Amino acid sequence: MIRRAVRATALEILGRLRPFSRETTVRFLYGHSMSVEERATFRATLGMLRNHFEFVSVPHAVELVRTRPASGRYLCFSFDDGFRDNHDVIAPTLADAGATACFFVAANLVAGSDEVRRSILRDRLHTSPDRPTMTVPMLRELSRAGFTIGCHTRDHVDLAAISVDEATEQVLGSQADVAAAIGAPCAYFAWPYGRRANLPEAVLRAVAPHFTAVFSAIRSDSVFSYDGMAINRDHFEPGWPTAHVRYFAARPLPLTAGMHEDGA
Ligand SMILES: [Zn+2]
Repeated sequence: MIRRAVRATALEILGRLRPFSRETTVRFLYGHSMSVEERATFRATLGMLRNHFEFVSVPHAVELVRTRPASGRYLCFSFDDGFRDNHDVIAPTLADAGATACFFVAANLVAGSDEVRRSILRDRLHTSPDRPTMTVPMLRELSRAGFTIGCHTRDHVDLAAISVDEATEQVLGSQADVAAAIGAPCAYFAWPYGRRANLPEAVLRAVAPHFTAVFSAIRSDSVFSYDGMAINRDHFEPGWPTAHVRYFAARPLPLTAGMHEDGA
């Protein structure tokens, strides 16, 4: 309790003080969820970030990170899993701020049976089985409104805990499910739990050719991991105090450094 309070105070102070570099960068921030009550905080955070970055879509950010622009500071958002608030609260708040996002959804959390959905919420996401999730029409609506919809396996599984064949089926199956749901190709994938321990390289090699880009949840000093096959993202939540997000967003991540080094 005390440690947490000390950390929060430290982040508050450091977050206000940490200078933003002017270096060319492309930042990938990802989160999961927010409540209606957190809207004002997220608006303030978006206002702060806008002073330091140009907001871009995930597809645009992927292009930028690969072509390495000579100048500019870019930032994109993504949100994992498929909770209802992504559609109801996050998307409209982003749209109001002139920002967009990619939503990486576990296909069966959105399109699966009620029983499967409840077990994913309880057993994989360790949250209430009654927690509202997005529906297929909501995904389609977001896609038509210009948001990107990516996949996050069918059942939010740890891809290291099953066979390579099963893991490949979980990933490519979710890609097909999401494409069918939105009536458009699904070209982006983020793996559940997001660490190296959750993605055997053999699985990444099998699925990567089917996507424009694959995303981790590895916070690191380099843009890429897995020898350039995955793009790293930094965690934040829309309800975090603005100074805390500022602290992480101001962390230097030059595009030219460690392009192909593993971060974690
Ligand atoms: Zn997830």
